[in-house]
Amino acid sequence: MRFRRRWVVSLVLLTGTAALHLSQPTLKRFEFAEPHMGARFRIVLYAGDRNSATRASKAAFQRVAQLDDSMSDYDSKSELMRLAARAGTGPVRISEDLFRVLAQSQRLARKTGGAFDVTIGPLVRLWRTARRRKQMPDPETLARARELVGYEMLRLDPKARTAELLMPRMQLDLGAIAKGYAADEALAVLIQHGMARALVDAGGDVVFGLPPPRSDGWKIGIAPLGPLDSPGPRRSQPVSNLILSGAAVATSGDAEQFVEIDGKRYSHVVDPRTGLGVLGPSGVTVVASSGTLADSLATAVSVLGPEQGMELILSVKGAGALIIQGSDDGLRTFERNFPPQAGGSPSPR
Ligand code: ADP
Ligand code: MG
Repeated sequence: MRFRRRWVVSLVLLTGTAALHLSQPTLKRFEFAEPHMGARFRIVLYAGDRNSATRASKAAFQRVAQLDDSMSDYDSKSELMRLAARAGTGPVRISEDLFRVLAQSQRLARKTGGAFDVTIGPLVRLWRTARRRKQMPDPETLARARELVGYEMLRLDPKARTAELLMPRMQLDLGAIAKGYAADEALAVLIQHGMARALVDAGGDVVFGLPPPRSDGWKIGIAPLGPLDSPGPRRSQPVSNLILSGAAVATSGDAEQFVEIDGKRYSHVVDPRTGLGVLGPSGVTVVASSGTLADSLATAVSVLGPEQGMELILSVKGAGALIIQGSDDGLRTFERNFPPQAGGSPSPR
């Protein structure tokens, strides 16, 4: 029997349980999970007792919920949606968090010539419908949506802390960066509570604080899955094992969200140059100094492809990437600075 090869990347966390048996008996491992931002957020931390661990994780999840209220593109009352509702009417004052995320998004947009673009909202919505119907978007509708997309039409003023969308009906989408930022901020809250030996997993985008007790770092495996349509165990051996602390890892790819139209496989990541999903199958894993960076870089590399994507990665201090591309001929793997030699910065942001 012949299977179509559909390789994708998945992250397997093999967090250091061995450390439990070593000394420092005062620190115990705790794990908490809550749904936020359409993902399962998970916190793993080492603490002296359950009460303080619970208190810290609650505060961290609360911070994530606050950020979701601000940055959701599903909730029409979110700060992001209220900003978009005022598109074409002048500058709008926004929160520090939203400003920071938009500013970082714009930096990456400039750097990638618009391959990463948070004004992509109208195209993402159109592509979502196309994926549901398994049908390419109507060319006229696509052309109209494309006119509403372009990072140059988002103006930020750091002094007044305002954002302005120049054209009416523009839509923002922070789906490629907000979870990374939320994970960074959640880890910052844990650190404020004195729990720096922790990780925050925002559904695959993971930020690591200090290592577990008596270990060099958090162990993770990057594994290709597949072929997805084959029976039997899907998870194969990790293609790469990493030990990380003070750094973040994120994946972007078409593992779960893709559509096949006319025999071509498209991702849910949209190429702003065509207005259509990026052609797959592929998986991108990025390690960087913060969750915000890793999350957004992984999406940018998905759009740019291996060649330009790796150029981008090498231009960012402490960043590295693993790209796995599948085709009927098999797997192609690209690896640059993976794991990063420079190491991550010890601060969570
Ligand atoms: P995941 O959904 O697994 O977190 P990504 O981090 O790659 O995967 O984010 C994909 C999301 O990013 C899409 O669902 C959409 O909301 C948004 N997006 C899609 N294309 C782009 C793009 N070119 N630039 C910025 N954001 C994008
Ligand atoms: Mg991303």
